[in-house]
Amino acid sequence: MMHLQTRSSEEIRSFYTLNDGLPQKAECSGTACFVASKSMGIPLPHKGSGHERIYCLGKCFSAPASTEDSGVPRIANFSRKSVLVEPLMKHPYESLDQYTSESGMSGLKVALSMDQDSVISEVEKSGLRGRGGAGFPTGIKWRSVAKEKAGKKYVVMNGDEGDPGSYIDRFLMEYNPYALIESMIICGYAVGASVGYAYIRAEYPEAIRKFVSAAREMASAGFLGRDVMGSGFQFDLEVVQGKGSYICGEETALMRSIEGLRPEVSVRPPYPTEKGLFGNPTVIDNVETLANIPWIIRNGHQAYSELGYGKSRGTKLLSLNSLFVNPGIYEVEFGTPLETIFYEIGGGMKHGSIKGVMVGGPLSGIMVPDEFKTRLDYEEIRKAGASLGHGGIIAFDEATGIGDLLEHVATFAADESCGKCTPCRLGTAELSRMFRKDSGSSLDYARFERDVESLATGSLCGLGTGMAEFARSAKIKFSYEVKSCFM
Ligand code: SF4
Repeated sequence: MMHLQTRSSEEIRSFYTLNDGLPQKAECSGTACFVASKSMGIPLPHKGSGHERIYCLGKCFSAPASTEDSGVPRIANFSRKSVLVEPLMKHPYESLDQYTSESGMSGLKVALSMDQDSVISEVEKSGLRGRGGAGFPTGIKWRSVAKEKAGKKYVVMNGDEGDPGSYIDRFLMEYNPYALIESMIICGYAVGASVGYAYIRAEYPEAIRKFVSAAREMASAGFLGRDVMGSGFQFDLEVVQGKGSYICGEETALMRSIEGLRPEVSVRPPYPTEKGLFGNPTVIDNVETLANIPWIIRNGHQAYSELGYGKSRGTKLLSLNSLFVNPGIYEVEFGTPLETIFYEIGGGMKHGSIKGVMVGGPLSGIMVPDEFKTRLDYEEIRKAGASLGHGGIIAFDEATGIGDLLEHVATFAADESCGKCTPCRLGTAELSRMFRKDSGSSLDYARFERDVESLATGSLCGLGTGMAEFARSAKIKFSYEVKSCFM
């Protein structure tokens, strides 16, 4: 009914960096660790220091971090109403009994008492949008799969939170896996899927352990399997452990990874809602998106849509990096100005002042202090030339040079490119070389601009276009500093 799947196919092992799981001792090379190292004046690990680079262990609140750090982030709610963190500020859920004693599983009970169409309507009317970066309306996705006539459909939880700077999904999977499984069952019931896959990255061993344990408890208690809560509805769950690849966070690559294929990105259409996992209609939702569902079903769409701003309804979890005075995970209502988040909630920088902030991880635009009146909103952040992404906020101070940051982000993109598109495969490596001080590469500003434009127009997925967005924003917002790298 449920097992931890660790597919291994020898011919694709070379694609991954963590085929044998996370090493016991490893340092993080993610962007929050990079800017923290710069601020503290200490070096980051390089390739060749015993293991491949590991981009983000999800411990950005205590960066620079290693696998041996066991601290927990500060967690708080700054929304008028908390959807996600309120119970978790007291404690993580350690057992199904504890979860059910605090209204856990009542969302599923309510959903099973409704017809499928009404469940989807609730999600549609709530205004919930995907929290993985694209912001696509969740209800529309669910309805598309529900409409398909296929005999087999799937629900996939995307727990491959590879965006350096974000540790939101790690927190949700470790603190409340029960709500995520409850949500997957609700989704399966609503769209007519009887099998779910939870794909969790290898960099999060504790999340995998807790998720598997929660799934076993829920299967024993009759929430999974042939007859969910005596309703006659069947839902089985498999947990798949990732093997160390950023690109598996992209939905088509993730599905190929589950299928045991080389996880390259595929051209869309067809979309996963029509032809997804094993060629069948599939809902793929990110962890935070799913975490909202039981609350919406329990409290009704209106309670949710009352929160928020513009087309961004509800609340968002944000994870702030270690250079803030108050790093941690915060639930914030959409519409909150970024300056409130950075200076009041985050408390500003521990040292010096904010030079720039990557709001949606490194593969999106940088925001600078002049833009901090922008509200937390998919569209407003987009207008400022950046993206909300997962909501992993990385602020950096004057100790981080923009040329060094460009080299770091381009190296990350080059290491993680799936290699399918030429501008991304060659361009990210070229950008990395261009800004590496010891590369001996001759710096050519016109070449830099050409590479960035090819990435923007010739990339199939967000890794290549995100690299271009980052480089363009660096070029515009730190024009003098970027140009000075070429003098
Ligand atoms: S942009 Fe890069 S990561 Fe994305 S599909 Fe193309 S080569 Fe692969």
